[in-house]
Amino acid sequence: MAKLVLATGNRGKLAEIIEILAPLGIDVVPQSEFAVPEIEETGLSFVENAILKARNAARHCGLPALADDSGLEVDALQGAPGIYSSRYAGEDGNDQANNQLLLERLVGVPDENRSARFQCVIAFLRRPDDPVPLICHADWEGRIVHQPRGEHGFGYDPLFAVDGMQRTSAELSAEEKNRISHRGQALAMLAKKLPGRL
Ligand code: IMP
Repeated sequence: MAKLVLATGNRGKLAEIIEILAPLGIDVVPQSEFAVPEIEETGLSFVENAILKARNAARHCGLPALADDSGLEVDALQGAPGIYSSRYAGEDGNDQANNQLLLERLVGVPDENRSARFQCVIAFLRRPDDPVPLICHADWEGRIVHQPRGEHGFGYDPLFAVDGMQRTSAELSAEEKNRISHRGQALAMLAKKLPGRL
């Protein structure tokens, strides 16, 4: 069975990615099993940061590596928190503090100006010096609500009302979210291209 290392310590992402790739018969091993040191996300784009993380994991594990770099763009905040989504309220990456800060920054912003989208870039590298990283990108449109709703998912899910639905992404089951989310769509593209590369 083909094996690859997944360059994330985020348990929410890990669960979603493993669930989507498992049916392909790919053995996805989290980088925590190799004690890979975290790398600083110094890139200015999701693409750069996804490549940095995948390269770091490939280098330390000697395996092909996959990384996801994702985040939330809020139009009323000129695209913030963007690539800084996990550390919006500070380096420790606390979901609750991030959500609280987001709501504070949007106080007084009416519903029609609360449009937002999740972005997801997946990078796959066959080896650390792979000159042609496979990049898959997708986004997911929605709107930031005024109060958190829902118990599923992670991160900003309780604040993200999905366009065309009456629910936040935290009110979707894992299966529903994976079918339509930014990450689900990016991984579906990857799933089509990956078999030829492994
Ligand atoms: P990264 O680990 O540097 O890519 O940061 C991703 C951050 O974006 C997460 O910590 C969340 O705050 C946010 N994020 C990305 N995808 C999702 C999602 O599917 N739901 C909720 N928040 C997300």
